[in-house]
Amino acid sequence: MTTSVYALTSHDWAKAFQDRGFSLAGLNYWLDGLYKDPTVWNRHVASQTLETFREKYNFDLPKIAQILTSEDGTTKFQMQFSDLLEVETVLIPFHKKFTLCLSTQVGCAMNCSFCYTGTQGLKRNLSAGEIVGQYLKAFEWLQENQSKAMKPNIVFMGQGEPLHNVTEVKKAIEVFNDTKLIGLGRSQMTLSTVGFIPGIRELKDFPKINLALSLHSPFDEQRNQLIPLNQKYPLKEVMQAFDEMIHLKDEFMTFEYLMIQDFNMQDEHVEGLFQLISHRKAVINLIPFNPFPGSEWKRPSENEINLFKEKLVSKKLRVMVRATKGDDILAACGQLKINQMARNYDR
Ligand code: SF4
Repeated sequence: MTTSVYALTSHDWAKAFQDRGFSLAGLNYWLDGLYKDPTVWNRHVASQTLETFREKYNFDLPKIAQILTSEDGTTKFQMQFSDLLEVETVLIPFHKKFTLCLSTQVGCAMNCSFCYTGTQGLKRNLSAGEIVGQYLKAFEWLQENQSKAMKPNIVFMGQGEPLHNVTEVKKAIEVFNDTKLIGLGRSQMTLSTVGFIPGIRELKDFPKINLALSLHSPFDEQRNQLIPLNQKYPLKEVMQAFDEMIHLKDEFMTFEYLMIQDFNMQDEHVEGLFQLISHRKAVINLIPFNPFPGSEWKRPSENEINLFKEKLVSKKLRVMVRATKGDDILAACGQLKINQMARNYDR
């Protein structure tokens, strides 16, 4: 597969210009044509430049194969790549802004028991260009459908474990972060992992980004049930791997906690979370479980959610409850899946 133009940072492009003897005076026009307005090339880019790069790089973006819109305004895109494999990308409204939930793999190898994607195995990694491509297509759609649409923030919480595809995800984050390309800052990007330690160790070389750990229980026996990877990388070792990232020391980290009825919302969990988190700069993000077809877990009632939250707050832990979005189109956390299964979902 040829390299995508959307996998290169502005530094990579400067080098590509220099290697070919092209004047750097044209670099900004080239980048503007790529990321802002293709008509810039007609006026400011020599046809030789265009032809040279057309031979060397792939300019394809994913196709939007299907769009589903939820009653709450959440939009789920079925993004199709050149090999016809597809992933889901979800645009979530929040007040007047949007967050885009990106996929990093087609399917996922982690097999988490609360996740629809995990039931399907890993088909392949996405390339950096395909990850950035999801953003560009979704933003293009947003601009067509909303005047003055602002750039969405991004969360790596779609299909796939981002750190299991660490090289391509890092490249994509460098492109998102590049002020001459997309220009998203640290507070606008969040990467969520279930605790893939080899990838956590690579984070030291990433641009700054918010981090989230899918925790879901402070106890290894329960995490083993939810996240099979925990058997290989137990929670204590995962926390140690994060602690070894010196540059993260003073940064807030989010702990995602899926609330599952009759499973992980008892007093012992409140105490376990206190022991694990109280001495850290941390926020616990409580997420009510979203059932999907065939799932073995149940969603708690509003009362149970409020009670659990109050108990955590009384321990002086920082807590927020994430409103689930897009339930009616299976776009909520842990509900994404691939290809035909989405088409079969009958709204
Ligand atoms: S929760 Fe994330 S890591 Fe686990 S199976 Fe689903 S996509 Fe993969």
